[in-house]
Amino acid sequence: MQTEVNPTLSNEREQASRGLLFVLSAPSGTGKDTVINALKEQGMDFHVVASVTTRAPRPGESDGHPYHFISQAAFESMIAADELLEYANVHGNWYGQPLNPMRENLSAGRDVLLKIDVQGAATIRRKLPGAICIFLTPGSVEELAIRLSQRKTETEGQRQRRLQDAQVELAQRDQYDYVIVNRQGHLHEAVECLRAIMVAEHCRTHLRTVTI
Ligand code: 5GP
Repeated sequence: MQTEVNPTLSNEREQASRGLLFVLSAPSGTGKDTVINALKEQGMDFHVVASVTTRAPRPGESDGHPYHFISQAAFESMIAADELLEYANVHGNWYGQPLNPMRENLSAGRDVLLKIDVQGAATIRRKLPGAICIFLTPGSVEELAIRLSQRKTETEGQRQRRLQDAQVELAQRDQYDYVIVNRQGHLHEAVECLRAIMVAEHCRTHLRTVTI
C-alpha cells in the first residue's frame, strides 16, 4: 500500500514543533513576577524575554535582571534597525521587546512569555493574532494600592501615577483571551490558572502559533 503525506498534517506537525507565544499584562504591583517565578519553580519551562528599557535600574536590578537598561540613543537605534517587535512608553519610561530572543526560543520549540503592558499587548494582537493574551488582575484596586505602597520601589508621585494608569489598564481586560485574578493570599490559585492555560493551549486541535 502506498501512503501519501497529507500536506495539512505535515504542516501541523511542523507547527507543533514551534513554541507558543504568551503575553501577560497586569497593572504595576499585581504580582506578575511572583506568579511567573512560582510557575518556573514548579518546573514549567518557558522563556521570559528581558525587555530593553530606558528606565534606571532599581536597587538589586542589573543588566538582564529583569531588563536590559539602555540609553535613549541606544533604544532609538534599536527601533531604527527594526530590532524591536513592539515598544511603548509606560509610566514615563520606554520599554521594548527585542525580536531575536523570541525568534530563537520559538523556533527551538520553547514557549515564550512577554511581560508587557496593555499598549504592547494591543500591538502584539495586531501583528501576531496567534499570540495568547492573558491579563492578570488584582483582587481589587485597594489591594493594588496596598501592595504598591508596601514594596517601596517608587516615590509617592510614581506610585500615584501607577495607580492612575492601573485604572486605564483594568478597563482593557476584556481585550484579552484570559483573565486571571491574583487575590491577596491566594497566589497558588493564580499560578495554577496560568499553568492550566499554558498546558491547555498545547492541547488545541489547531495550535495558535505565530511566525516572526
Ligand atoms: P516596571 O518598570 O515596573 O518593571 O514595569 C512597568 C511596566 O512596563 C509593566 O506594566 C510592564 O509590564 C511594562 N513593560 C515591561 N517591558 C515592556 C515591554 O517591552 N513593552 C511594553 N509595552 N511594556 C513593557
